[in-house]
Formats: sequence, C-alpha cells, structure tokens
Amino acid sequence: MLAMNFRGVRQIRLDRNKPEPEIKHPYDAIVRVTRSLICGSDLHLYHGRVPDTRVGMTFGHEFTGVVEAVGSGVQKLKVGDHVLVPFNVACGTCPHCKQELYGNCNESNPEATAVGGFFGYAHTGGGYDGGQAEYVRVPYADVSPTKIPDGMDLENAVLLTDVVPTGYQAAEQGGIQKGDTVVVFGAGPVGLMAARFAWFFGATRVIVIDHVDYRLEFARKFAYAEAYNFREMKDPVLFLKKATDYFGADVCIDAVGCDGTGSALQTITGKGLLLQAGDATALHWAINSVKKGGIVSIIGVYGPPWNLVPVGSLMNKGITLRANQASVKRLLPKLIDHIMSGRINPKEIITHRLPLEEVSDAYRMFSGKMDHIVKPLLIPPRANAA
Ligand SMILES: [Zn+2]
Ligand SMILES: [Zn+2]
Repeated sequence: MLAMNFRGVRQIRLDRNKPEPEIKHPYDAIVRVTRSLICGSDLHLYHGRVPDTRVGMTFGHEFTGVVEAVGSGVQKLKVGDHVLVPFNVACGTCPHCKQELYGNCNESNPEATAVGGFFGYAHTGGGYDGGQAEYVRVPYADVSPTKIPDGMDLENAVLLTDVVPTGYQAAEQGGIQKGDTVVVFGAGPVGLMAARFAWFFGATRVIVIDHVDYRLEFARKFAYAEAYNFREMKDPVLFLKKATDYFGADVCIDAVGCDGTGSALQTITGKGLLLQAGDATALHWAINSVKKGGIVSIIGVYGPPWNLVPVGSLMNKGITLRANQASVKRLLPKLIDHIMSGRINPKEIITHRLPLEEVSDAYRMFSGKMDHIVKPLLIPPRANAA
C-alpha cells in the first residue's frame, strides 16, 4: 500500500510498498483511510523534537476511514462502517480510561510513564503506525472509533479526531468564566480552535498572539479574535499587561509547545543545544502575562520531560497550571452536536487538499508555512472506492 515513510529529520518519502496491516488481536480493526490530516505536532516529529521517532514510521493521528476487517472480539463496529478515529489509542478499561482520561491510557502504551498511546506518534507514543497511508490497524476498535453521523461532512469528521477536541479542551482547561479575557499563544489550527471555543465558555475578549501575519488574519476571521504579531512589539508580556489595565489576562493558553520562537535564550537552549524540550517561549509568556490567581492551560506539545519555566512566578502569582492531551472520546458527543447544529464549521481551517502521493511536498509546505497554509488534508487514491 501507499504510506508516508519517515526517513530522518526533515526527510519524508512516499513508500509505495508498505505491507498492508493485519489483524493482530481480537479487538483490532483494519480501516481503509478516506481522509487524513497533517498536524502541527507531526511537524514536531518532522523537525526531530520527539524522542524515539524511528525510521520507517508512518505518521498520522487524524484520520477517517471505512472498516475493512474486524477481529473476532469486536462487537460495535462492522465491515463497511464509516468511522472517525480519535488520535488517542485507549483501552477503555484501565483506571485512567474509566475516568475518561483517554489520552492517559495505562494499557495502550505500557512503556511510557507520561502518555497513553497515539497513532503515528513515535515510539514514545506506543509505536502505532498512523493514518497517512491507505490502511491502518486500529487497536481497541470498540472503544474510540466513532461512526460518522449521517450528513456530517467528512472534513468536519476528520477534524474531530484531534484539532476540534484539542482546541476545545484547551479552552475548557482554562476554566474560562463569563466576562474573561483569554489570550491564546499560537494561531495554528489548535490555537484557532481554542480561540473560537473561548467564546463558547463566556469570554468577552479573545486575543491571539503569533508571528505569522496570514494566520493572525485567519484568527480574526475564524475566531473573531484580536490578533497581534509579537515581532511588532518590544515585549509581548508588557503589551498584554497594558492591554489588560495591568491586571493580566484571566486565562492564557499555550497552543505552541516545543516549536516556539521569540526568545533567543529559549531557542538556543531548546532548539539549538537541545538542553531542554524545545523552545518554551509561549509558556513563559503565558505564565508572565496571566493575572495573579489566573489559569494557564497548556495544550501545545513538549517532547522530552523537562523545560526551563518560570516556576517562581507560577508560585508567587498563585497560578493554576492545567494541561493534558485531549481526551477525544469524552468530548465527541458535545462537539458532534456543535457541528451538526451549525455553531461551528471546523473545515474552514482546511486550506490545502492533496493526494497522499504528495505527502512529502505537503510536509515541506506545512513546515515552511508556504502558500498561506493552515491545515493540509491528504486524500488516498482509494479513499472513494466502493
Ligand atoms: Zn494532531
Ligand atoms: Zn486505558
């Protein structure tokens, strides 16, 4: 089958002869991919920021597909079902899954202490091949894969596998109250979604900070946010203090993670010398520009286990820090309702649609922020087969 193939940092090729996946366990399903997205966090892998990303891996944790085969133990799915497959690989029965912490499953990634399993996300994510391919093996098929509701656009369905729930959870973790000012660092797909959802929780002011002008423009249109370029300000923290009568924002959301820019110290130690888990500039700004007693929500991905963060400010300001991988399955019923009732049309963020065969170009474009790209979608050649 055709599959994206990781060959090393910034080297992605199309593999034309990857063996098709097979049922390995009674709870597995095999899914023929119909749509697959490239995620900003795939770029963390592409840029070499996530440990144990092995040559030969197929990325892709955001995909929809048609069930082609099921193991003998699968009860809820049958061949021919159209499903969206959440990025979390979750067993559904461990203590964390029982608490609906599907991003922290204890069984699907037993060798990791921090995260559960993810599709297509290095061996630190459990080593599961992902959906930038024609077929995927989906473990625990009765747990997370969800039948796509009748009438839902496939592009909205595929965004429900990560970007929509992740953006929503970023806002939810912020504990946004009516009347709050919310600052979102990062105008990538998740930041855009978080900014849009901040209004749903009652924010009365939403500010987005980034350095890519076309994405700031997107934030104004899609998320109805005030959007500012940090390269045009001397000090983003001071700018935000001034913008909030020197109180600071009620809630700050870090939707950047380890690929940040804007601080020479962070970039040199994080991305140059690899002395920390990438560049934590956005997290610094979030901690320093939230109000005393405010909440910082981290949804951006940081790879290895530690970073230089201003813990003194965190403590002295009485900040609550909340973070997690999105628990997609927990959020799906609510988010499906938001989409079906037309309150949000997430597919507006998909800017590029490419055949799977052009996957390496898609990564290059996305990484280089070329052609005003926000979110690229891959369509495998057999996507529409009967
Ligand atoms: Zn993603
Ligand atoms: Zn579990």
